[in-house]
Amino acid sequence: MIVTTKNLKLNYGTQRALEDVSFSVEQGELFGILGPNGSGKSTMFRVLATIEEPQAGTATISGLDVVSQAQQVRRLIGVVFQSQSLDKYLTVEENLSSQGHLFGLSGASLKERITRLLDRLQLTDRRSSILKTLSGGMKRRVEIAKALLHDPKVLLMDEPTTGLDPVARMELWKYVDELRRETGVTVIVTTHLLDEAERASRLMLMHMGISVLQGTPAQLKSSIPGDVVLIESDDPEALRQGVFLHFDKQKCTVVDHHVRTIVENGPNFVTQVAAAFPQAVRGISYHKPTLEDVFLKETGARL
Ligand code: ADP
Ligand code: MG
Repeated sequence: MIVTTKNLKLNYGTQRALEDVSFSVEQGELFGILGPNGSGKSTMFRVLATIEEPQAGTATISGLDVVSQAQQVRRLIGVVFQSQSLDKYLTVEENLSSQGHLFGLSGASLKERITRLLDRLQLTDRRSSILKTLSGGMKRRVEIAKALLHDPKVLLMDEPTTGLDPVARMELWKYVDELRRETGVTVIVTTHLLDEAERASRLMLMHMGISVLQGTPAQLKSSIPGDVVLIESDDPEALRQGVFLHFDKQKCTVVDHHVRTIVENGPNFVTQVAAAFPQAVRGISYHKPTLEDVFLKETGARL
């Protein structure tokens, strides 16, 4: 395991941010940390990035402790923050050079490394552009190039697509996929977006500082046995009771003004409900479980 955390705990004063968080990541994985705002994702990221010290528990990268061996850990990680860390009045190359100098790189080897990264992230023709003239997606790619300059084993990214439009978001993920394929770098990424979480090789769902579930996206979704049915009605509470009684105490809840239930056979159930409550049902549909459904089941909250 290239990254491990064990029973991590961190409070900001009386505010709980991490509670007993344990997970591990294998070399080459794309590990996703999925949770709503305030669930502790950035705190987890900052612990791994050696910026924040946990009050209890341990975290290691390549076997090195993020607290007692923070200096060595910093050489092994590349960090992409949610907020911009580049100088907007310098060129792309100048931004990367000054980062390289911080890591003791210089001369031809630094130039060569910059050339290779700009090529990988398709920024070669922007090498001499002033940063502020770049699009949001390009700037984010420069951030990634900067994080990779010292050839880290683990790339940490905190909600890296924040503020990007859908096309730039998709492109960014394409570049991350390519980087993983070509370099084998391990990536740990936080997100609150379902479609991004779907790309992870494994996921940790976080809620109020707690790791509620871990596994591949497919494993997490298969924790819900069957189809999710949503029924629209003017009086969802009355319909919930009606469905509960009519279908042998079928467990239903009201979520966002819809009656929601999980059944073995969605198509069958939908037909039966529509036939049994022709007046009360305004609309009815079923779908295979999504990560949102899994989160709702585990926490009672929406993502
Ligand atoms: P996320 O990144 O998932 O939105 P955070 O890790 O930023 O979550 O926050 C987790 C919890 O810790 C939240 O309740 C947040 O308000 C709180 N928190 C985060 N940073 C600080 C801080 N510097 N001081 C006090 N509370 C904080
Ligand atoms: Mg955050």
